Amino acid sequence: MDFDELNARIVSCSRCPRLVRYREEVARNPPRRFAGHTYWSRPLPGFGDRSARILVVGLAPAAHGGNRTGRMFTGDSSASFLASTLHQLGLANKPTSESVDDGLVLHDVFLTAPVRCAPPANKPTHDEFENCYPFLLKEARQLSQLRVVVALGAIGFGASVRLLNDLGFRSVAKPKFGHGVEFAFSDDRGMRKFLLGSYHPSRQNTQTGRLTKAMFLSVFRRALELASHS
Ligand code: SF4
Repeated sequence: MDFDELNARIVSCSRCPRLVRYREEVARNPPRRFAGHTYWSRPLPGFGDRSARILVVGLAPAAHGGNRTGRMFTGDSSASFLASTLHQLGLANKPTSESVDDGLVLHDVFLTAPVRCAPPANKPTHDEFENCYPFLLKEARQLSQLRVVVALGAIGFGASVRLLNDLGFRSVAKPKFGHGVEFAFSDDRGMRKFLLGSYHPSRQNTQTGRLTKAMFLSVFRRALELASHS
């Protein structure tokens, strides 16, 4: 299965009844600021450079972010925080991510999530996670240049550990989530990939100062360094 076939399967998926209901329900009752917008209301494929060395793994699309705009990390405050950081490091051609036709192009970075539909309260159930995880694995197998995974938040981190294991890579140390943590994974042939942890750039984290721009930049600087030297 190539990228286009995989994406076609993702966007037509309706395996999780609760999420199918929710992704459509939020479109019918948008907040005032998005009144009149036509929501995507379908699952989201990954977005970015298919030759990327850096894979960014979040949790799931936001109800009025990706679920509205139809693109991963697009149209909400997390998207702005991420896009401006990537732009600062030369990994994006512009500092904003607002809509599918905004001209944003990512270099060396691919954005994805283990759950492709917006979940209520940003909390997918265990079954929903399990239903969706195979898409992440299939997607990562297409990224032949992948060197570094940047996991945003504890759930994205757990999914990333599982992903690296499923790709045949193991870490000597037991990976434990924290902001700025770094783990090296190796396969049987001694090839290495790296996992970095970061707090998620949710409004809750960025507005409270739990995650500052400097903290986020430093994770991506390190990702770039590891991608270039591994
Ligand atoms: S969360 Fe994933 S598995 Fe569930 S309906 Fe959406 S795309 Fe399908």
